[in-house]
Amino acid sequence: MTQSEVQAAHHEIRASVREFVEREVLPICDELDNRDQEIPLSVIGKMAELGYFGLIFPPEYGGMGLDTAAMAIVTEELSRGWLSVGSVMTRMLITGSLIMAHGTEEQKRRFLPKICSGELLTAAAFTEPDVGSDTAAMKLRAERHGDRYLLTGEKTWCTFANRAHVLTVLARTHADAKPKHKGLSILLVEKIPGDSFAPPELGGSPIPTIGYKGMRSYSLQFDGYACPAENLLGGEEGKGFYQLMATYEYARIQTAARAVGVAQAAYEAALDYSRERVQFDQPIASFQVIRHKLAHAATEIEAARRLCYYAAEMKDTGRRCDLEAGMAKVFAAEMAERVTSEMLQVFGGYGYSREYPAQRFWRDARVFRIFEGTSEIQYEVIARRLIGDK
Ligand SMILES: Cc1cc2nc3c(=O)[nH]c(=O)nc-3n(C[C@H](O)[C@H](O)[C@H](O)COP(=O)(O)OP(=O)(O)OC[C@H]3O[C@@H](n4cnc5c(N)ncnc54)[C@H](O)[C@@H]3O)c2cc1C
Repeated sequence: MTQSEVQAAHHEIRASVREFVEREVLPICDELDNRDQEIPLSVIGKMAELGYFGLIFPPEYGGMGLDTAAMAIVTEELSRGWLSVGSVMTRMLITGSLIMAHGTEEQKRRFLPKICSGELLTAAAFTEPDVGSDTAAMKLRAERHGDRYLLTGEKTWCTFANRAHVLTVLARTHADAKPKHKGLSILLVEKIPGDSFAPPELGGSPIPTIGYKGMRSYSLQFDGYACPAENLLGGEEGKGFYQLMATYEYARIQTAARAVGVAQAAYEAALDYSRERVQFDQPIASFQVIRHKLAHAATEIEAARRLCYYAAEMKDTGRRCDLEAGMAKVFAAEMAERVTSEMLQVFGGYGYSREYPAQRFWRDARVFRIFEGTSEIQYEVIARRLIGDK
């Protein structure tokens, strides 16, 4: 495809996702958010039908074979509707790209077509109550007994765990490995979807949150929960840490795109409001301080968007882009927090009320600096690459 054909295809993709969001997401998201309700399964089913869960995977495994830039555009537009909707596909992207890059051929054939079609929904279970940023120190044990592993320990913040058919679990298969990260493996742990889990071997309870209401995050307790040995990613123990690191580029580009989408929604809402709201006999959009807030927001959003697309383009041309993906993620995360806060300010008191979505954008945006690697960790990773001291 020529450059202009690629651009035309991206334009078409954006228009079609925007149309989906306007029809299926915007009419319901504020009410669901206000009532602490999850995204309806019918909406997730429609996303699956449209191919959103298999965007970047090759057609031979049931995917659409699109580029990373297209994935970023779809993510941005879904998140412009509701962060939770843009985040559903994150889970399938993480599990699917892990299987695509590191799975055995049998695992690719068994899992990928069903992940792309939405028949298998997935969730990422990496974080533990005592271990978050220090991935190498994960403790949940997976002990081999014949042809299966028995999992014992805890995970936390596993978003979408209730609805998932497969939990992508980072587990310790070698208790005494030195260095610690060499004792980790990834297991594709199957479960029955639903809020009740499978006690007593697998328990789960939702964590109350301030935002991100359309998806629930869970604390999970494993007590000898069985996983077939054939579900060990790549069929080799001790590779989990490296496998996970290798998928961070996709995940960070996707998270940057989510942040751009939420900030864009906040900006558009504030722009509309500033034209309608009259004080001192004039629309508040005529006050320089408000005009400049809007101009500043639009500039910051565009800068984050370009950084995100740049990282995506690097990925699509086969270049290493962990540095650029990390920069895009950290910049977009911090931008989204600033922009959504300032856009809420444009609404005055109404910004603080549940009547308008400005507060939803602000609550949702706060999570970007925390998940997919905190800002502090991102800056450290970027500094390490720049300074080259490790
Ligand atoms: C809404 C939500 C959804 C999530 N969804 C998922 C999910 O689906 N799956 C999943 O596995 N996890 C998920 N997470 C977990 C998330 O990835 C972790 O919260 C994150 O990695 C940070 O880990 P932690 O909370 O243990 O914080 P900690 O690692 O304890 O960090 C606490 C503070 O110390 C700072 N810090 C830590 N180490 C360093 C260091 N070396 N240098 C400087 N500062 C440091 C951190 O930046 C942070 O400010 C989710 C979290 C949230 C809030």
